[in-house]
Amino acid sequence: MTFPSTPSTDHASAVIPAPVPLASLVNRAQVGFEDRFGRSPRWIAAAPGRVNVIGEHTDYNDGFVLPMAIQRYVVIAADRPQPTSRPMPIRLSSSAFEQAEWISLDHTSHKQLAPWARYVLGVLVGCRDAGMEAGALDMLVDSNVPLGGGLSSSAALEVATATLVEAVTGRSMPPVDKALLCQQAEHRFAGVPCGIMDQFSSVFGRPDHLMLLDCRTAEITPVPLNDPQVQVLIINTNVKHELTGGEYAERRDQCERVAKALGVHSLRDATLDLLVDRSAALQPVLVRRARHVIGEIERTRQAAQAIAAGDWGRTGQLMDASHASLRDDYEVSCRELDLLVELAGQQPPGAVIGSRMTGGGFGGCTVSLVRSEHLEAVAHAIHDGYRNQTGIEPSLFTTRPAAGAHIVRG
Ligand code: ADP
Ligand code: MG
Repeated sequence: MTFPSTPSTDHASAVIPAPVPLASLVNRAQVGFEDRFGRSPRWIAAAPGRVNVIGEHTDYNDGFVLPMAIQRYVVIAADRPQPTSRPMPIRLSSSAFEQAEWISLDHTSHKQLAPWARYVLGVLVGCRDAGMEAGALDMLVDSNVPLGGGLSSSAALEVATATLVEAVTGRSMPPVDKALLCQQAEHRFAGVPCGIMDQFSSVFGRPDHLMLLDCRTAEITPVPLNDPQVQVLIINTNVKHELTGGEYAERRDQCERVAKALGVHSLRDATLDLLVDRSAALQPVLVRRARHVIGEIERTRQAAQAIAAGDWGRTGQLMDASHASLRDDYEVSCRELDLLVELAGQQPPGAVIGSRMTGGGFGGCTVSLVRSEHLEAVAHAIHDGYRNQTGIEPSLFTTRPAAGAHIVRG
């Protein structure tokens, strides 16, 4: 198996570190496994994180999203355990956490496990229930997808686990089933009622392509993004505002309530005209939530067309409008995300195509499309502006659309 290559158009600079090729991350995971377990791993699997270019908070409304897999991966190395007495069949380590975990698929309550290990347990249980039991394993997880940054490290961890099980059992599952199994693991074992975008992106990622995903039918339409003049710049605010934690569930609930009041199955079936018509009977906050979702679904469709046509002016307008809507109507942005988007908007005309928050919100990352020749200057200006105004060091990187999950060794 060959690794996806790192395109030569990527840049390295003081504020944008050189990209780490997947091969180096695989090597690091292998060395980590050898350090931890004293021998080489027999199987290695990799699954990428993702960035959503546009279409935020639309997935659970049966809408469209436009993500791509990123050149940042979760890599899992594994082997059968040595024949010693062990308390439980699976021993799991992650470079992101000190404490190793012991897992049994018969765990009466996954609540006893460290939260991060529940994602892995959930997938192993799902695979077993689908007739693909992995058996006893030593496992080491390594990753360069930032945790909790809105780039879907959780889905990457789940999909890497499912891909590892494919390597171990020598059997493959239909990719859609694999993505849905991972989504179920996140629902049931992590308690996050996520849509299908994250797991689909990690499974179906394709170099040089975004994917327009219809979250109602799970149909994917590839959208080429291969213009060497256009860079995808991701900037992590490096903040995560811990609110009450119920914001995601609250937004979902509000969307369901408006859909019901409008007499439609989901907001995918509503139009702005219908909303305006009925708005007098709805709480203003519900009108604003629905206005975001209905508008965002339409923007996402249009952005897919604009990007395919290389219409960067229109693409930028749609991204900027998406951010404003998430900030004002859906109210899931924060000061730091807004600042990054404002700084992007202050760059010389034509340098930044468009910029918006990406992921669930309240912190995490922005995604911007930037003209290659301006990347260096834009990156420095936004980095310095953000650091000066917040005192926080942001993290920046560029990525091309990357390959989805695959077995690296097995
Ligand atoms: P996001 O998916 O946006 O990164 P989430 O909160 O959904 O944020 O998922 C982050 C969680 O996923 C982490 O807190 C951890 O529990 C788990 N996770 C992600 N990557 C790893 C990793 N490399 N090792 C262990 N756990 C991980
Ligand atoms: Mg996640």
